Amino acid sequence: MSIESFAFQLGAFQCIVVNDGTFAYPHPAQIFFVNAPKERLEEVLRKHKLDPERWEHYVSPYSTLMIDTGQHRVLVDTGAGDLEPTTGKLIPNLKVIGIAPEDVDTVILTHGHPDHIGGTINKDGRPAFPNARYVMWKSEWEFWTTEPNLAELKVDKSIKEAIIKVARRNLPPIQNKLDLIDHETEIVPGIRAVAAPGHTPGQMAVAVASHSQELLYISDVVIHPIHLDQPDWYAAVDFAPQQVVATRHKLLHRAAAENVLVQAFHFPFPSLGHITQKGDRWHWHPIETTG
Ligand SMILES: [Zn+2]
Repeated sequence: MSIESFAFQLGAFQCIVVNDGTFAYPHPAQIFFVNAPKERLEEVLRKHKLDPERWEHYVSPYSTLMIDTGQHRVLVDTGAGDLEPTTGKLIPNLKVIGIAPEDVDTVILTHGHPDHIGGTINKDGRPAFPNARYVMWKSEWEFWTTEPNLAELKVDKSIKEAIIKVARRNLPPIQNKLDLIDHETEIVPGIRAVAAPGHTPGQMAVAVASHSQELLYISDVVIHPIHLDQPDWYAAVDFAPQQVVATRHKLLHRAAAENVLVQAFHFPFPSLGHITQKGDRWHWHPIETTG
C-alpha cells in the first residue's frame, strides 16, 4: 500500500485514510506553540529529537477519512483542493482505490479551514461530491458564511484573507445540500458528531463505532504530537486558546480512557494511533504499518 491511502477494518466498517497531499509548514516551533516559554520549548523539542535551531519545516499530510459502513459511504474532510501544488490529490487517490466522487453520499466537514474544506468544490465551482449531503456544525457554518472575525489569530493579515477566501469559495455552493447540527448526534448509523470547539468556533470531531471497535477522528484538536505532551501550548491558527485547551483535555482523556483508535489529521501518515495518559499529559503511539 502506498502512502497515498491506508485501509483498515473497524468492526464491520471498511475505513481508508486517504491523503490529499502534504504541506510543509514553515517555522513550526513558532506557529504551533505560540505561548510556549522559549527555554521550555527548546527542552521539549530536544526531547522529541528536534533541533530548535534547525527545525525549519513540518511536513504535514492532509489525512482525510473514507468510511464504507455498508449502508453509507462517508468522507470526513475534503483536503485543501488546489490551494498548493502539493495538495488536491484526494479525488485521484479515491479513484485509485475504486471510489468515484459520485459514490460518496455523506461529506462531514469538521471545520472551515482551507486544508479541510478546500476540496469541497471542483474547478467549475460545483460540489465535488455531487450526490452527497454535507454535514457541518451550525455555529461553524454561520461563522464562515457571515463576516468571520479572525482578529485573534496570530498570523499575518494575508493569511487571514486567504483563509476567508477559501471558505467563501467552497461553502456557498453546498448550502442546498447541507445538514447543520448543533448537538452531538448520529450522522449516519455508527458515526456520531462530537463537539470539539476552540480551534475554530464550531469544530467537530467524529466518532466512528462498529461492533465495539471505535475510532475518534479528532481533526485539529491537536496539530502536532507535541500538543499531547504539552496540551496547554496552542497554535497561531487556534481561534479560542482557552477552549482549545479544554477541548483537548476532554477528548484526549476520552481517547486514552477508552483506548480507541485515533486519527489526527496533521500527524505523520496514516495519522492513526493510540493515546496513553500520564497525569495531565498524553502520549502518541502511532500504529504499526508494514510495507
Ligand atoms: Zn488542519
